Amino acid sequence: MDSFHNYNCCKKGFPKFKKRGNSVEYKQAGWKLSEDRKYLTLTDGFKIGRLKLVGSCDLNFYQIEQIKRVRLVRRADGYYAQFCIEVDRTETITPSQKAVGLDVGLNHFYTDSQGEVVENPRYLRKSERKLKKLQRRVSKRKKGSANRRKVIKRLARKHLQVSRQRKDFAVKTARCVVRSNDLIAYEDLQVRNMVKNHKLAKSISDASWSMFRQWVEYFGKVFGKVTVAVPPHYTSQNCSTCGTLVKKTLSTRTHICKCGCVLDRDLNAVLNILAIGLKNTVGHTEISTPLDESNLCQIDASRSGKLSR
Ligand SMILES: [Zn+2]
Repeated sequence: MDSFHNYNCCKKGFPKFKKRGNSVEYKQAGWKLSEDRKYLTLTDGFKIGRLKLVGSCDLNFYQIEQIKRVRLVRRADGYYAQFCIEVDRTETITPSQKAVGLDVGLNHFYTDSQGEVVENPRYLRKSERKLKKLQRRVSKRKKGSANRRKVIKRLARKHLQVSRQRKDFAVKTARCVVRSNDLIAYEDLQVRNMVKNHKLAKSISDASWSMFRQWVEYFGKVFGKVTVAVPPHYTSQNCSTCGTLVKKTLSTRTHICKCGCVLDRDLNAVLNILAIGLKNTVGHTEISTPLDESNLCQIDASRSGKLSR
């Protein structure tokens, strides 16, 4: 499996990135690591010479041949070098003998079929409020003014902070869910449909959910668990006990069926998700191997070492 290791680059005379593109990628040529693996030299394109790598993750742990790609990324707080390393990352853990269904929520992060509700962390909500505030401040400043540029910079750094917090939460939560269950079922929400939604709260929740899902699938491979995405249709409308269609509007919070089943709306939905997930898994013994997808694992090794310019 490939994994990226981030390093802060510390060097004057940064490469010019195109306005939209924030990264440059190299395959096995065009870069060189120093003997002690502390310096990265880009041998073509950018004439910036040697980059000092500031980071906690030890590159010495890997063979040079394991580094499949090197990516130089510009972020609001500095430049990073990402090393895409091919490692077979699998871990064996005792089966939990449990299966779980997960359902996204706007008000909470998810509801699971075991009746648990995971809330969006408070620090995230706080950061998101701060982000909104800064966004408003940018729009109030005069276009082209130095003040506006300053606020834009602050906004970019805040964005970065929030996205790191979000990722951190997604990784930890996904790891925990996968470790404590043998099968994880969730709705197959289409990202394309999500992007259309302009409501901020909705788009934030969609974005963090799709990131979470990627990590669930990643850890599923690491720990050898089954992850299954089920079609999202009717999961909230059908009765999880008898299968009857029980129509509800968005404001109907309780599922009440003629069969006597009375459940919280989300719990009913998530039980359906789990049931479909289990059904779809029967007969499928194929569990993807860790070598399939390469981009899912992004391990940020370095957060320290701010750039000095
Ligand atoms: Zn029913």
